[in-house]
Amino acid sequence: MGTSNGRRGVTVWFTGLSGAGKTTISKLVEHHLRAAAYPVESLDGDIVRQNLTKGLGFSKEDRDENIRRIGFVAHLLSRNGVIVLVSAISPYREIRDEVRARIGDFIEVYVNAPLHVCEQRDVKGLYAKARRGEIRGFTGIDDPYEPPLKPEVECRTDIEKATDSAGKVIAALVSRSYVEARAMAAGRRQC
Ligand code: ADP
Repeated sequence: MGTSNGRRGVTVWFTGLSGAGKTTISKLVEHHLRAAAYPVESLDGDIVRQNLTKGLGFSKEDRDENIRRIGFVAHLLSRNGVIVLVSAISPYREIRDEVRARIGDFIEVYVNAPLHVCEQRDVKGLYAKARRGEIRGFTGIDDPYEPPLKPEVECRTDIEKATDSAGKVIAALVSRSYVEARAMAAGRRQC
């Protein structure tokens, strides 16, 4: 179990289509955890691909390697008491489950918005490029996304507010005793 000075670490793994809201919700959660003085680290897929997994592409093998490396770092941190927030499309169920099994203290958050909503948002202009054929193997367009079968949390970002989604994630951390409701409330008062 991930502990440091009695503090239990955990990896919170946000998975979902590009533009579903993983980064947005994760940043809200991070803000609240920091306000309550919990040790937090974020591993965002886009940023990780510029350093830790630089050079990897989007083939099945490379995507799995990307997730394996993120999972490796998340494990190191969370077993030392850190709350790690991972935001990565992580489209394949098998590798997510492999990482879950290795880490143990693991909360899977399915950030769920229908493809047409993500495509309408097109935060990074990538869906338009994929539709034009300028990007191949784009998740949701011409590469599969395998939704989690039993995520600890599901955020329906097409019908719920990002703040409500963040609240659900924090509630999951509280109910599993990774954070204390009292500490979170005290943090909120100081915001
Ligand atoms: P991802 O990290 O999954 O690629 P982002 O968080 O970068 O997605 O982008 C999601 C976009 O959707 C942001 O522009 C965000 O403001 C918007 N959005 C609208 N409603 C929501 C919601 N309920 N939850 C999260 N994001 C939302």
